[in-house]
Amino acid sequence: MSRIGVFVCHCGENIARTVDVEKVRDASMLVKGVVDAQDYKYMCSSVGQNMIKDAIKSKKLTGVVVACCSPKMHEPTFRNASAEAGLNPYLCEIANIREQCSWVHEDKAIATPKAIELTGLMIEKVKQNSPLGDIKVPITKKALVIGGGVAGIQAALDIAEGGHQVILVEQTPSIGGKMAGLSETFPTLDCSQCILTPKMVDCARHKNIKLYTYSEIESIKGYLGNFEVTIRKKARFVKESVCTGCGLCYQKCPQKKIPSEFDQGTGFRTAIYVPFPQAVPNIPVIDKNTCLKLLKDRCGLCEKVCPPGAIDYTQQDEIITEKIGSIVVAVGYEMLPNNFYGEYGHGKYKDVINGLQFERIISASGPTKGEIKRPSDGKVPESVVFIQCVGSRDPAKGISFCSKICCMYTAKQTMLYKHKVHHGKAYVFYIDIRAGGKGYEEFVMRAIEEDGAVYLRGRVSRIYRKKDKLIVRGMDTLSGNKVEIETDLVVLASAMMPNKNIETLYQKLGASYDKYHWLTEAHPKLRPVETTNAGIFLAGACQAPKDIPDAVSQASGAASKVLALFSKDTLNKEGTVARINETLCTGCQMCINACPYKAMELKDIKNKQGQLIRQVAKVNEGLCQGCGVCVATCPSKCPDLAGITEEQVYAEILSLS
Ligand code: SF4
Ligand code: SF4
Repeated sequence: MSRIGVFVCHCGENIARTVDVEKVRDASMLVKGVVDAQDYKYMCSSVGQNMIKDAIKSKKLTGVVVACCSPKMHEPTFRNASAEAGLNPYLCEIANIREQCSWVHEDKAIATPKAIELTGLMIEKVKQNSPLGDIKVPITKKALVIGGGVAGIQAALDIAEGGHQVILVEQTPSIGGKMAGLSETFPTLDCSQCILTPKMVDCARHKNIKLYTYSEIESIKGYLGNFEVTIRKKARFVKESVCTGCGLCYQKCPQKKIPSEFDQGTGFRTAIYVPFPQAVPNIPVIDKNTCLKLLKDRCGLCEKVCPPGAIDYTQQDEIITEKIGSIVVAVGYEMLPNNFYGEYGHGKYKDVINGLQFERIISASGPTKGEIKRPSDGKVPESVVFIQCVGSRDPAKGISFCSKICCMYTAKQTMLYKHKVHHGKAYVFYIDIRAGGKGYEEFVMRAIEEDGAVYLRGRVSRIYRKKDKLIVRGMDTLSGNKVEIETDLVVLASAMMPNKNIETLYQKLGASYDKYHWLTEAHPKLRPVETTNAGIFLAGACQAPKDIPDAVSQASGAASKVLALFSKDTLNKEGTVARINETLCTGCQMCINACPYKAMELKDIKNKQGQLIRQVAKVNEGLCQGCGVCVATCPSKCPDLAGITEEQVYAEILSLS
């Protein structure tokens, strides 16, 4: 005989404003099997929880229904309270009378009967509930960090410092990411490489961190606590264990005019190269698309000059498999493609460049050794026009988001230009200034007031070339006048964009992404570093445009989530998973193909002699998320969901009749 307790929450006024909670309480009391019904202003408070616990003990309840907010919000709260009072937590159910009722109705006369019905459904369901146990899943205490920019480095260091092993996979030949290519950073103007390279070195030296640079993720299988990742370590054609990093090879390489990816095409590299002098690891890589030996079986100079004999033209890609328990995705961003704004001539005129290219030009480690020279003829620009929001906040071009950092780095770039070219003129076209960070507003004011940057509010309509000058045409919307500026160099603060073709990696991760292809967090406010795929966390600009402080804090946030996960030996997973009735199963495999979490596999049924009789479906309880797709798919009706059986669903439906 069921002894059900019903607890109706007012949720302050959230529910009580539109639902007559006393009526819901009294109506519940009339349902067969209900022995107690109470209401309270805040059922989730300790007073409310104690009401439930006391009733479970004093009234010897066999089931509890809490009519309140959504199960996502407080199901764990009330299930834990029930467990503390000695009731199996799966005998506590939530009737959602807030999101599904009070928040979607204005009329009490409509909302109250609906709340009574929703509560009645759960009363009938809980009568059918059976006690369930959590599933214990072991955890592999090793993390994978994908992406070796500042966010990936920070996450790897934090996890490693927490005493756990980390695999850091970076697709380029060195860690460091975009930050390694910056000159100074706002708002402190400290040298980017000076603050980053010690972290890069720490990362490479840390006993708990294994670096795989020039590597890509081939596949990811498994689930929270138990992933298996396959990594393709691309051939460098240089034996890492032999190379001393002396640099003779790239000094002698005759292929000297290859645009450098690290310098954003503003400088050149050789066919065998390290991307930048402080690269970690300091091991060269041979670019097979430009090496004369690999392309035409000629040259071979690097092999001849290499003192320890580290060059190996026959090296092949290596495939490595690692077992890991958690993943931090820190794959960063890239800049809007050159040709996005044809009217600005980026990619057409050499002296129209983007912000990252300007960083390389002003950087002491850049191709001009920090001297500001324009790309076309090496002349020092007498004036520079900076244009903000190029591709950002432009719904007409399909991009509505703000790139967040452009206002700040443009202000910084005007300052750095003026510090080097004292008589030069810096103009900035802007929509409005977004300087919402510590010391940011003051920094922009410094660029204007102390360094004399001229800010013009308005958009640029066109840039064209006239002899050796660029003409920038735009509008000053404050004065209402058309503006035309003759300048030597134009710097576009182009939008930060997700990496090209990144969705292939996202699909391997099973992570969701938005229409722009930024990764989506599980909840924008309460779970900002988690993805909807358990055990996979986010760090840095792969989620949305971010500046360095935000990327670093998010990386530490993601690392703390990994450390919290690794603080346990096993994971408790909800017991609401699929179960197979093996007698009914014909082994048709329809559920295996349908399961979106790859949680179904085949199991052999053998006779006493060990001979295979037939195969049936088997649930991997670690992977199963209880979505119910297999139940709906199976033609033999053999899977069922623990906690949401057919009997329970029918009991809910019948309560409405
Ligand atoms: S010459 Fe040989 S040892 Fe020196 S950096 Fe090149 S590959 Fe390494
Ligand atoms: S309930 Fe969903 S996740 Fe679990 S086995 Fe069935 S289809 Fe897969």
